[in-house]
Amino acid sequence: MLTAMVGRQGLRYARGVPTPAPNPPAPHSPDIGPADETAAERLLGALRRYWGYDSFRPLQQEAMTCVVEGRESVVVLPTGGGKSLCFQAPAVCLPGTAVVVSPLISLMKDQVDALRECGIPAAAVNSSLSPEERRDVADRARSGELKLLYMAPERLLTDGALSFLTTIDVSLIAIDEAHCISSWGHDFRPEYRGLRRLREVLPGVAMHAYTATATERVRHDIAQQLGLGGDQGDGAEMLIGSFDRPNLSYRVQRAKNKIGQIADAVGKRKGESGIVYCISRKEVERTAEALAELGVRALPYHAGLADEVRQRNQEAFIQERADVIVATVAFGMGIDKSNVRYVVHAGLPKSIENYQQESGRAGRDGLEADCLLLYSAGDAQTWRRMTDMSDPQAAATALAAIDAMSGYASGVTCRRRALLSHFGEGYAKDNCASCDVCLGDLELVEEPLILAQKIISCVARLEQRFGGDYTAKVLAGSSEQRILDQRHDRLSTYGLLSDSRPAAIRDWIEQLVGQGFLAKEGEYNTLHITETGRRLLKGDAAPQLLKPAARKAKSQRQAAGADNWEGVDRDLFERLRTMRAEIATTAGVPAYVVFGDAALRDMARRRPSTLDGFAEVRGVGQKKLAEYGERFVAAIVDHCEQTGAKLDALGAPAPTPATRTDDAEGPSAAALACFGRFRNGESIDDVSAALSRARSTVVGYLNQYLRHEQITDPAPWVNAAHARRVEEAIEQVGLRGLKPIFEQLGGEVDYDAIRIVATCVANRE
Ligand code: ADP
Ligand code: ZN
Repeated sequence: MLTAMVGRQGLRYARGVPTPAPNPPAPHSPDIGPADETAAERLLGALRRYWGYDSFRPLQQEAMTCVVEGRESVVVLPTGGGKSLCFQAPAVCLPGTAVVVSPLISLMKDQVDALRECGIPAAAVNSSLSPEERRDVADRARSGELKLLYMAPERLLTDGALSFLTTIDVSLIAIDEAHCISSWGHDFRPEYRGLRRLREVLPGVAMHAYTATATERVRHDIAQQLGLGGDQGDGAEMLIGSFDRPNLSYRVQRAKNKIGQIADAVGKRKGESGIVYCISRKEVERTAEALAELGVRALPYHAGLADEVRQRNQEAFIQERADVIVATVAFGMGIDKSNVRYVVHAGLPKSIENYQQESGRAGRDGLEADCLLLYSAGDAQTWRRMTDMSDPQAAATALAAIDAMSGYASGVTCRRRALLSHFGEGYAKDNCASCDVCLGDLELVEEPLILAQKIISCVARLEQRFGGDYTAKVLAGSSEQRILDQRHDRLSTYGLLSDSRPAAIRDWIEQLVGQGFLAKEGEYNTLHITETGRRLLKGDAAPQLLKPAARKAKSQRQAAGADNWEGVDRDLFERLRTMRAEIATTAGVPAYVVFGDAALRDMARRRPSTLDGFAEVRGVGQKKLAEYGERFVAAIVDHCEQTGAKLDALGAPAPTPATRTDDAEGPSAAALACFGRFRNGESIDDVSAALSRARSTVVGYLNQYLRHEQITDPAPWVNAAHARRVEEAIEQVGLRGLKPIFEQLGGEVDYDAIRIVATCVANRE
């Protein structure tokens, strides 16, 4: 055996030699094509003959040549870049059988099926084979018939498999998803570490590593762990493809009304294929249902579904009987659907590597496709909680990856540049013209340094002992009891940003964390000032802070009341909503007549345990208290007991400036009845005449409409000159009430116009 191997080894390019000799030794005689063909011609011939492709994709030729010439390599190409062919085509051209290490049975199966479809003898050895099938595969490998043999690392490293490998003619070893070997990577699998043993068992057989997602550190770790091109891995050929996917557009939005935002993204690509990724199974179910209700052909996919359901849904998606698959990240590996036109992430992925890979499933066919990421501050927290802390190094890597992802989401530099730079690649253009930052979807605040200084000095005044929510409230000048108890209303930074809402301030705090000026520490995520944050206080830094673009009103149509979700227990909200529906059905009235959404949210936010507490809820008057109080309080108490949610949470309701009090409960039935007219652009006087209502009443309805639809442009109802004057006045006196604005304008603009403009301005925040 050994002799035979040495004999074969003589044909190979020596291991450990970093660069090819000027005249590399002749590779194996090819299985196909005449002997005087060059390696490239032979490979191209195989590409044509078996795959029907006319040309190499970028880097494929170099990668394949490395294999044919026996120069060990690390090949990094983005998802869809055509990695598999880099070892499959050479395997076809070389005598013997290529051993391919792959982490997932489903991945192996797909590749083997695809190879067989092309007429290439290939097989996978895994636990799903019967003993006879396994024997058959072994025979075909020994006889040299198989060109590729796929195995999972656990199986490959058993003594039986290793000694079997010494009995066959192995042409090359390809390690797929090779980042799994690195604990710096996002998908570390300890069993990959054992692959180095193949060195001893198959001396002289060249090994190559393939991955889509590798930072420089991971790349070198792969080469080193496997000892590619030499024991230290420093002789390996590094072939790094560009990670830029020019046909993909990137957008990031803070999650406000996820379903509405997702529905918007889906609506833009009606009838086309898309993937929506959610963090939890429950969210998958909820989102798929909501989309289906909106008439979208959407199906769920997660590990909790029965195998056959999952399989059926996946097939329906691939066969285009469904347009949208709503899935956890369990979905997608090994799925080769090239015409996915959009990928929406309904929550923060746990690393930029994951994001690159998952969003990379869009537009594999090279046609334009959209990547939308919706994130909330809590997502990173969720991932941190889910991080396994048992291995300190792995935990530190995972936490750093979460931070990097968070930084991306709250960042304000070109998304494409940010992604590329994470993978160590520069981006030459100033403007990529296909991300939200470059397209100007995001508006920057004008004086970010001053704003950031105000926020960070408040963190300093609070002695770095509080979290983002609390700090935001202090800056907003909230009169919440715990703030008064701590006497934080006496701090010089109290109310320093009283013009802004706590939600907006909270957002800026996240951005400052994302840009490294602040850091969250400890179990309670208390805010700390970093070294660069200290420099910022001295004026020596250039932060960038976003304000949501004012002209996005239309796409946010469905985001009604979006800002009011803060502190709301969503599950409780859903439960109360179901109860509301039951009551409404029994009574034969519309649901909003029982309670508006705002009231339900406030209940799910405050979670009162007593009738007195319930009476505090916005939108609960005497009658409703008497009629429904007991029933709702009982449900709230029951929910909190079951889930451990805090009863009587003291969270203050969302701020209620003077301009909003009229619709705190959501639109009234009478107002809803004229929304259609407003949508058609009918004037106040026309509506007032048509309905025989007082003008002031109609202005009230209009105001509810503006709030409900989150309209930010008063144009059809207030003339431009007046609108501008009111906006200027609001900038000076703030949004605390209409009277100060009226007075600021010297009584020259009427209250109705002021009210309309003020509502539109409030909607912009
Ligand atoms: P990766 O493993 O890098 O994600 P794949 O190897 O699955 O990518 O290739 C992605 C798609 O591109 C597959 O459908 C594959 O057949 C196709 N492909 C690969 N190389 C070429 C080529 N040279 N010409 C045309 N299509 C190619
Ligand atoms: Zn850009």
